[in-house]
Amino acid sequence: MTATLLDGRALAARIEGSLRSEVDTFVTMFHRRPRLVVVLVGDLAASGSYVKSKASAADRVGIDSDVVRVPATATTDELVSLVASIARDEHGPADGILVQLPLPERVDTVAVLDAVPPDRDVDGFHPENAGLLSQGRPRFVPCTAAGVQRMLIDAGIETAGRHAVIVGRSDIVGKPLALLLASRGPGGDATVTICHSRSADLAGVTRQADILVAAVGRPRLVTADMVKPGSAVIDVGINRIVGPDGTAKLVGDVDFDAVREVAGWISPVPGGVGPLTVAMLLANTLLAAELRSSRR
Ligand code: NDP
Repeated sequence: MTATLLDGRALAARIEGSLRSEVDTFVTMFHRRPRLVVVLVGDLAASGSYVKSKASAADRVGIDSDVVRVPATATTDELVSLVASIARDEHGPADGILVQLPLPERVDTVAVLDAVPPDRDVDGFHPENAGLLSQGRPRFVPCTAAGVQRMLIDAGIETAGRHAVIVGRSDIVGKPLALLLASRGPGGDATVTICHSRSADLAGVTRQADILVAAVGRPRLVTADMVKPGSAVIDVGINRIVGPDGTAKLVGDVDFDAVREVAGWISPVPGGVGPLTVAMLLANTLLAAELRSSRR
């Protein structure tokens, strides 16, 4: 069997198409464009390229965006003050505020993320948004988790009553995705298991998954013998490796070539979850602008 490919790029392009017309409607109603402000700390190549792709996607749908660059030497206090100044619109109107991760190790990431006001937290990382999601009344859902759920819904992969196994329990991917898949309604109602580095018999658990999501950050952690035949395998991982010929390339957490012979559906890396993460960020930014404008 060869799995059906879950083409995240094509789906993201369709989502962008509908967002473009929703943004047009917003502009007609409020005579301004939604605006996203991104804080980029240091000069990590990967972060720079993520920020660039977010800015060009925003541009494609008619959302204004701006990047505030900060040297890698910035302290926690400086970053918290910067985020507060952005929230006071001192860097122009900011419907959505995003701090690109990772921050340098000595910075208190939680303190910086908590400084983003919850009503502009388009990454959905603020405890208020995490709490709303856990209570089943989501506002800003973390973009990658939302993207995975959207991918499943779009492909017509049934989640209700199915066993979803998520490998990875981070606050930004694994946990919010578990909440989404266990929530009531479309793309939910699954029985969810979360695995992590202390899970015993990982392969024994993943083999029970109708839907298997890998969000770990370890190249080819999920091998073909860990996958139930016919299941849906979603690869969130992004790992930069250097091939035998010395060139760098991106791979996921799933051994793609072998797993595609066993699974029913599989998402590639690149071109799977990544583009959907960006599309969901745009949707959250539009939502933030709508909430803000309708309050005025
Ligand atoms: P974290 O490092 O925060 O979390 C990784 C998780 O994997 C942890 O829960 C960890 O367990 C678990 N883990 C580590 N090793 C193993 C193992 N051997 N077996 C089982 N579980 C293990 O990562 P993130 O959630 O932030 O990101 C995960 C991956 O997704 C990364 O590659 C990242 O680059 C990618 N990513 C991709 C995005 C996209 O748009 N496609 C967006 C965000 C992230 P423990 O908690 O016990 O340490």
